[in-house]
Parts: sequence; C-alpha cells; structure tokens
Amino acid sequence: MSGRTRARACPERTCVGCRQRAAKQDLLRIVAVEGECLPDHRGTLPGRGAYSHLALVCLDQAVRRRAFPRALRAPGTLDTKALRRYVEQATVAEQATP
Ligand SMILES: [Zn+2]
Repeated sequence: MSGRTRARACPERTCVGCRQRAAKQDLLRIVAVEGECLPDHRGTLPGRGAYSHLALVCLDQAVRRRAFPRALRAPGTLDTKALRRYVEQATVAEQATP
C-alpha cells in the first residue's frame, strides 16, 4: 500500500446554466478569448474559466442570464456562437452513439 489518502477530494464546479454542482470532469470549461467564449475541452487555456454541462439547455440558460460575462469577468458581451456550435456538435455526436 502506498501512502496515498483513501478518498481524493473530487473537485466540484457550479454549472453556469442550471446552477447545479457537478464534478469538474463532467463539465465543459469555457474561457473568454478576445470577446468570444471558447470551449476549453482540454482544460489548458489560461485565464478565468466558467463551467457548464455539455448541454444546450444549460448553455442557452447561461447565455440568457448573461452568466458568461459575469463568470469570466469580461466587460460587455461575449460571442457565444462558436461555443454553441461546439456544444451542438458534441451533443449530436453523443446522441448518435448507441
Ligand atoms: Zn447545467
């Protein structure tokens, strides 16, 4: 047995859409780059991150509530078109696999 602790704390984040807490790995990290929201699916981009479920309902709720500029401390509005397309494609791919 190694000296590792028995239960590692699972990092949790709050989804900016539905406001529910979830394990960090179940959420998509989103960062603001030059006024645009971008999906950071590898979690490697620098800066503040917002977290959302990989679901259009959560994304649309977050956009409607202007949660992204608030969560990312970005002045003005953020373009979410590219992000929405990414989530759309990701969810379509998920539904296509049995
Ligand atoms: Zn959510």
